Amino acid sequence: MLKVKVLTIFPELFPGFLGHSLTGKAYAEGKWSLEAVNIRDFAFDKHGSVDDTPMGGGAGMVMRPDVLGAALEKHYTGGRLLNMSPRGKPLTQQLVRELAQEQELTIICSRFEGIDERVLEAYGAEDISIGDYVLTGGEQAAEIMLDAVIRLLPGVLGNEDSAKEESFENYLLEYPQYTKPSNWQGRNVPEVLLSGHHQKIKDWRLAQSKQVTEARRPDLWKKYLDSEKN
Ligand code: SAH
Repeated sequence: MLKVKVLTIFPELFPGFLGHSLTGKAYAEGKWSLEAVNIRDFAFDKHGSVDDTPMGGGAGMVMRPDVLGAALEKHYTGGRLLNMSPRGKPLTQQLVRELAQEQELTIICSRFEGIDERVLEAYGAEDISIGDYVLTGGEQAAEIMLDAVIRLLPGVLGNEDSAKEESFENYLLEYPQYTKPSNWQGRNVPEVLLSGHHQKIKDWRLAQSKQVTEARRPDLWKKYLDSEKN
């Protein structure tokens, strides 16, 4: 059972889409738990202020270290502490697999310009980015990261094999998928997939994976070629 704690000023955004479909079923079955802590409860003034202007000037607001620090003091009880941030380490399937092995994840979600660096340093938070673009808040990023992690928890995917063959698991993107009808508006499903010949299908899929990876993701293609050498 994975214990998840999120620190946020919008606790109502959780579980959000994680409450539906596979992740929602896993939640109902107790495969993961969620506690959403409202950072505002730790504000020192009656307005519930959590942020202030950036030292040194500039646009926007920054989350105060004393307020977030008080929330962490009470709710961070060990395990990996993650801070969603475009400055972070890129989230990859490899990191997702690592996180799925943990017992407990504490995730800081911020808004505005981000968080006073001192509190992140003091608690040893790891910055994690879900991609090279900027969102309005860490909550969206946290839910995407959690979605990827939760589907890898034991018993969440109906078929454990589907996780092994997917995009990124071996640096290759997935081959194209087809279903019935075998002819749709004059377009046929590739012949080999109807052949029932397992080895030929496997070879065809691998060839397709290689082709699409080389064409779309030269960075992954290079990693794949390097991994094949060893
Ligand atoms: N000024 C900041 C961006 C702030 S965006 C900068 O340039 O780095 C507001 C919040 O949204 C961030 O603090 C972070 O929690 C979240 N966020 C935005 N983009 C993200 C991304 N790509 N990955 C993870 N979190 C992100």
